[in-house]
Order: sequence, then structure tokens, then C-alpha cells
Amino acid sequence: MRIVMFGCPGAGKGTQAKVIATKTGAVHISTGDMLREAVAKETETGLKAKEYMSKGELVPDDVVVGIVKDKLINDNIKDFILDGFPRTIPQAKALDIMLSELNMPVEKVINLNIDHQVIVDRLCQRRVCLNCGETYHLVNHPPKVEGKCNACGADLIHRSDDQPEAINNRLDQYDKKTAPLIEFYKEQGKITDIDASGSIDEIRDNIMKTLGL
Ligand code: AMP
Repeated sequence: MRIVMFGCPGAGKGTQAKVIATKTGAVHISTGDMLREAVAKETETGLKAKEYMSKGELVPDDVVVGIVKDKLINDNIKDFILDGFPRTIPQAKALDIMLSELNMPVEKVINLNIDHQVIVDRLCQRRVCLNCGETYHLVNHPPKVEGKCNACGADLIHRSDDQPEAINNRLDQYDKKTAPLIEFYKEQGKITDIDASGSIDEIRDNIMKTLGL
């Protein structure tokens, strides 16, 4: 299984990628999570990425392509769900080259479709556990203890890029740089649209159907 989970920020890519990875055993590869970890550990990549991320801008292509390539090769990954990558046409082209060298092209691209206004509300209310990556929504899926992760008990944070100004910036970047990938993958006949405005379970069921699972 080689899947790209596609959609604008807050569409639910991470949530769905995790569910499907657990069901199928494919590896969930989130460039956002890898970059946040690099920032927290103050690695060379993290230092390069930090400024872009806090403003809601895209990290340069060569940095992101490098971390995905390292992950696929070092961990010898054959089945994966890419979440948050590719986000630009040059990234998608680099991914195609990388995967054709490994003889394992992308099979399907799941496009999670949702209105931008719903996203602004979702992200303003989102809280994230930096320790285990669990996500919460203050109204629809609140933590049992305020400010603490249900799964591991660590503190929850409101990501700096989930503040209104950065959200608008991220949506703007999505429209300009990421949305053109829909046409790119349409031309390859790989993309399937999924309505991402329903419940997590409904969306998961639709994705599973699309994947024939
Ligand atoms: P995410 O958690 O996927 O929303 O990613 C958080 C932030 O990490 C983004 O707003 C970007 O700054 C950066 N990022 C994640 N993935 C990529 C990517 N494929 N290309 C460029 N920047 C990325």
C-alpha cells in the first residue's frame, strides 16, 4: 500500500492516516510531525525549518524531500501513507523520481475535500499533544482532563501555526502551491475525492471503501 493523503491544512489528513496505518500496518509518514520533532531537538533541519513553520509558510522543498527520502530508505519502508507530503509540484516530481528508483510508485491519492471556513474553526479549536501526536478539538473531541492528553497525560498545546493569522497564511499557501497537485495527480489517474466534512468514522469508512479494504 502506497498512499498519499492529500488535502488542505486541518482537513483531517493526520487523523485519517493514523487510523488507516493502524488498520493496515502501513507506516504513517507525516512531514509535519518529523519537522516539529526536528525543531524540538534543534537539529540542523529543525533550525532551518523553524522560522517558516511558525509563520505558516512552507519549508523549502530540498529540506522536506531530503527527510522523506532518508525515512523511506533508512527504515526500508515498503508500505506507507504520506501525510502532508508532497505539498508542491517540485516535491511531487521529486517523489515520483525517488519512488520509481525504488520501483514502488504511488498507488492512490486520497483528496480530503473541505470548505476553508470549516478549517479555520477546526484549527482554532485544535489542541495537540507534542509527546504522542494525539489531536483534540475543544468542542467536538475535548480531552478528559483540561490541557492533558488522554493517551499519555502530557501537556496539550495550541500550535503557533494554528493561530488565526498563521491559519490564513497556510490556507493561502495551500491554494497557491499545493492545490495545483490535484491536476497533477488527476493526469496520472490516481486521485479520489472524499468529502471530509463528516465524522471521523464516516470519512474513514469512505476511505477504506476507496482502498478496497
Ligand atoms: P502539518 O502538520 O502537515 O500541517 O505541517 C506543519 C508545517 O510544517 C507546515 O505549515 C509547513 O511549514 C511544514 N511542512 C510540513 N510538510 C511540509 C511539506 N511537504 N513542504 C513544506 N513544508 C512542510
